[in-house]
This record gives sequence, structure tokens and C-alpha cells, in this order.
Amino acid sequence: HTITRPPPIPSPLRFSKFFQSNLRILVTGGAGFIGSHLVDKLMENEKNEVIVVDNYFTGSKDNLKKWFGHPRFEIIRHDVTETLLVEVDQIYHLACPASPIFYKYNPVKTIKTNVIGTLNMLGLAKRVGARILLTSTSEVYGDPLEHPQKEEYWGNVNPIGVRSCYDEGKRVAETLMFDYHRQHGLEIRIARIFNTYGPRMNIDDGRVVSNFIAQAIRGEPLTVQAPGTQTRSFCYVSDMVDGLIRLMEGDNTGPINIGNPGEFTMMELAETVKELINPAVPLKNVENTPDDPRQRKPDITKAKELLGWEPKITLREGLPFMEEDFRQRLGVPKQHID
Ligand code: NAD
Ligand code: UDP
Ligand code: UDP
Repeated sequence: HTITRPPPIPSPLRFSKFFQSNLRILVTGGAGFIGSHLVDKLMENEKNEVIVVDNYFTGSKDNLKKWFGHPRFEIIRHDVTETLLVEVDQIYHLACPASPIFYKYNPVKTIKTNVIGTLNMLGLAKRVGARILLTSTSEVYGDPLEHPQKEEYWGNVNPIGVRSCYDEGKRVAETLMFDYHRQHGLEIRIARIFNTYGPRMNIDDGRVVSNFIAQAIRGEPLTVQAPGTQTRSFCYVSDMVDGLIRLMEGDNTGPINIGNPGEFTMMELAETVKELINPAVPLKNVENTPDDPRQRKPDITKAKELLGWEPKITLREGLPFMEEDFRQRLGVPKQHID
């Protein structure tokens, strides 16, 4: 006798594609600094449903509390190094600690997050046919021998150093993205993010802008790590989020640099924070950590041409927004002198 098999059941994703107009978007690392600002922006669009996945290693529910209970919002405590089953149309894959003190705290975990975490998100994207964007980093250029850095530059990275769990981890994540693209036809997007700052950064996360602002507000010396002539280029978080969404929505896989080309030495940054926030604090020279890149500045020609994107907010405009947020969280209001 013959067995009659039931017809295949359409997957929930296919169902959502044909019967609903909402776009279901997964944001891994959505409780973190950039992730939570990205979620705010995505939630502004009534056609978006947002699912956040985060293990709260460096992120916090506080960053998303205004969305709790919203019908288009959902949050799952989950570690991306474990298999994840959800049905979504787009994935913004941000999960990974970004501050050197946090990613060096448990380097094996950092590399697992970058490699196994990205592999899992690619497996998920493949199963459900979702487009996936990876937030890679300017650290893939290492201590760059070309300046400013173009996307074509392959980088100068120490494979066995204390930063390698992060920068080599992201390099493998990029490789995985392109292999899934070539081998399985996945729609991928890679953003190479340069130093980003703004409200909701962890106050004591050791990154330079958060350190200097917290120190200035607390009236402590600004710790300039040697030699102080090393440079970074700082992008305000709303500009970053705008660039990430444009990249996801556009037709280019990347990698594309997203950052602010305004370049500052750490000494200049300290002087600026001092001038804007607390002229009374001194600068203090302290020791640096190994393999610290000496210079960093994005060439954003591609972002301009392919995404029509460039940052709008200068460092002097952005720092006061961050100061306000830090003052609130530290409970130190600004003294007004009349
Ligand atoms: P963040 O530390 O504030 O956010 C990272 C989020 O990922 C946190 O909420 C954390 O809890 C979560 N997370 C970490 N490991 C996880 C895991 N295994 N499973 C699930 N969740 C996990 O950092 P950020 O500054 O918002 O950075 C976001 C992304 O952007 C990261 O991928 C980072 O590498 C990249 N990036 C950031 C910068 C920057 O200057 N902020 C620069 C370059 C690249
Ligand atoms: N994966 C996941 N969610 C899914 C599909 C896959 O987390 O919905 C994970 C899965 O556990 C695997 C990884 O993604 O470890 C890669 O999946 P893929 O199907 O590409 O490879 P395979 O499972 O064949 O090794
Ligand atoms: N830095 C500093 N003082 C601090 C923290 C960092 O001078 O209190 C320097 C650090 O040596 C590096 C730069 O600031 O040259 C940026 O460091 P951060 O950790 O913010 O980011 P990344 O090294 O990942 O760019």
C-alpha cells in the first residue's frame, strides 16, 4: 500500500513574507551601546518588529526599558554561541564586547562569540533566508601601515597578541560572512565600524571617551595613555546607526567603513574634554597596553558614494550629549555660573 504524506507546512517566515507586511528584525547585542540606539531607530518605523538577543555581558536591560511591553518588541536572554531558532527577515549581528577591557577579560569567550556566534547567525540566516549585517571593526586593519584606511587595505594584525581574540575574531567573522555568501548565496552586509561614542556607553568600560568624560565630571585627572600622540576618529552614535541602516537597506555587501574621518590625538581629545567639561582637571600620562594602534582614520569615500552617507555630528557637538547622559547617571549636575 502507498503512504500519503501531508503537504509541507510553510515555515513561519514564509508565512510572514506572504501574509504580513511587517519586517521582522533580529538585533543581536541589542542591549548594548550601539545596539540599543539601533533598536530605538528601528522601532520608530511601525512596519518593523524587533527581536533582541543578548546575554547581558556588557549590555543592560535598562538601555531598552522604554520598549518593554511594546507589541512590536521582544527580548530574549541568549548567548549567540548557542544555536538560536527564530524566524526573521533581517539580522543585525552586533553581539560581541567592544571595549578592550571587556574583550580581554575572557579572550577565549570573545573569540567564541566572534567565530561560533557569527557561524550560528549565518546558519540561522541561511535557514530562514534572512539578510545579515555584521558589525566588524576598524581593528581588522590592526596597527595600520596605510593611512587613512581604505577597505582594500588588508591590515597589519598581530595574530597572537592580547587584542587578537577581538581583531582576528572579527577577521574570521568577515571570512565566514563571505564564505556563506559565495557558497550558499546569502545576502550579507559588512560594516567596519570606527570608534563610536555617545550616551549609554558603560561609564567604567575603559574606552577613552567614556573614561575622559567620567574623569572630568568626577574631577579626576584625565588618563592619557603613552605616548598621547596616537590618533583615533570618533563617530557619534546616531550617525553610526544611520550608516548601519543604510548599509542594510542598500545593495552593497561591503565591507564598508563607517566612521567619522575627523582625526584627533589622545592629547587633543583630553584637552577638548577638559575645555568643554572641567577646565580644572589636569592631564596625567599613564602607561599604555600592548599593540595599541598608533593611528586610525577611515577613508569614507565608499560610504559616501555607495550609501550616500557621511557623519553630521562633530566631536565638539557630540561630547555635550554624552556629558549630559553621564552626569545624570553619575548624579553630578552641571554647575551653572551666572
Ligand atoms: P557593547 O559591549 O555595548 O555591546 C555588545 C552587546 O553584545 C552587549 O549588549 C553584550 O551584552 C552583548 N553580547 C556580548 N557577547 C554576547 C554573546 N556571546 N551572546 C549574546 N550577546 C552578547 O558594544 P558596542 O560598542 O555597542 O558594540 C556593538 C558592536 O559594534 C560590536 O560587534 C563591536 O565589535 C562593534 N564595534 C563597536 C565599536 C565602538 O566603537 N563602539 C567599534 C568597532 C566595532
Ligand atoms: N544554526 C542556528 N539556527 C538556525 C540554523 C543554524 O543557530 O536556525 C546554527 C547551527 O547550530 C550550526 C550553525 O548555525 O552550528 C551553522 O549552520 P549551517 O546549517 O550553516 O551548518 P551545519 O549545521 O550544516 O554545520
Ligand atoms: N586611551 C587613553 N586613556 C584612557 C583609555 C584609552 O589615552 O583612559 C587611549 C588608548 O591608548 C588608545 C585610544 O585611547 O590609544 C583608544 O582606546 P579605546 O580603548 O577607547 O579604543 P580602541 O583602542 O579600541 O580604539
